[in-house]
Amino acid sequence: MVPERLDLVISGGRVIDPATQTDDHLDIGVIGERIAVIAQGPLTAPAAATIDAGGCLVVPGLVDIHTHLLAGGSFWGIRPGPVAWRTGVTSWVDAGSAGIYNLLQFLERAAGYQPLTVYGFLNISGIGLVGQTGELALPEHCDAALCAEAVTANPDRIVGIKCRLDHRSTAGGSLRGLHAALEAAGAAEVPLMVHIGQGPPALADVLAALRPGDIVTHCTTGQNMALVDDSGRVLDCVREANARGVLFDVGHGSGGFSFAVAEALVQEGLTPDVISSDLHQLSVLGPGFDLPTAMSKLLAVGMPLPDVIAAVSSRAATAIGRQDRCGTLAPGRRADIAVLRMRVGQLDLFDSYLRERRTADLLTCEAAIVAGSPLPAEPPDAPAPWVKTSPTQRALVRDRGATPPAREPWALQLQEKGDFVPMPLAGPPLFARGSEALD
Ligand SMILES: [Zn+2]
Repeated sequence: MVPERLDLVISGGRVIDPATQTDDHLDIGVIGERIAVIAQGPLTAPAAATIDAGGCLVVPGLVDIHTHLLAGGSFWGIRPGPVAWRTGVTSWVDAGSAGIYNLLQFLERAAGYQPLTVYGFLNISGIGLVGQTGELALPEHCDAALCAEAVTANPDRIVGIKCRLDHRSTAGGSLRGLHAALEAAGAAEVPLMVHIGQGPPALADVLAALRPGDIVTHCTTGQNMALVDDSGRVLDCVREANARGVLFDVGHGSGGFSFAVAEALVQEGLTPDVISSDLHQLSVLGPGFDLPTAMSKLLAVGMPLPDVIAAVSSRAATAIGRQDRCGTLAPGRRADIAVLRMRVGQLDLFDSYLRERRTADLLTCEAAIVAGSPLPAEPPDAPAPWVKTSPTQRALVRDRGATPPAREPWALQLQEKGDFVPMPLAGPPLFARGSEALD
């Protein structure tokens, strides 16, 4: 049934909605906060506003399952508003910035980020990610029973448990935190997201403990817990975990994405289930930048476009058990919509280790719509006083074309603010293969 009047029409775009198996040139009509109709255009009902999406992709508002949003309360946290409007990310998931000691602060922050949808994984360590690392160094910070209670008490906000497993976070590679996290996730019946990077622990020991539906983030890491061996072959323990239903998420961040590993995974038929940005105080300055840039990097290593869209919509929403809340354009659902443009040209993108890849396609966002209304532009926040960008990072991003052209003014402004930081700048080893895991 065609409605008599529409508040917003998005016309002429290629609509890709993996949840409803839609991939066609269609018009979308919105009434109030909800999607009213998706049909071959032109829609005949008069509309109060129209977005001409000719030449664009129209996809569900992006779901980013690994970000850090406890701004002003943790080392990594940023505010999502200055990023959401220019990237189309309408549903944000904080990955363990808060543990039980600072959960209340996260809940207050998350409520303040409306109209964006914000969820969180609760860190198994009570101190969360207040500091850069080391949260699992002290066993008394992990109380599985209290964590499970906190998850159960906050079903609208908390979607799972987070545990970082690298030698710095665990102070040497202990699996004590993993076992506590599994106990909490089991009791609360939610997924566990584990971060991998520079071990110990060993990847095989971590994967062996995970259950179907648990999520391995930084699955494209180039550090020594990589999913592939030196010749690019997927490890047996990875295939076994994949067959068991363990999910693999990109989590680009400042240490989680290697072009070589991502390409090997795609070639070996183990494409990531979910693509996330791991956006935080460091990665937002580049070369991570944001989710559409991470998506472009997966396209560059051969992941097909519909698969890339599924990895930031239907599959991302399902991974956090919120497929009834986000990640689709089905009529009746909240009108969270991203209008993306594929910019075709020669562009150099860089992975977390500042290795370069020339790509032909860059996804950028033309409009981010939340509950039927386009998000207004917001200027970027200044980096936190403790943020140090390296001279190499700044030079590559500024001088060698790694900054997506559409966003260059914002990135430059951020970097110039970064220059004010009254601390010695970190050097290139931050990004070197085998360097200590950041996040
Ligand atoms: Zn992270």
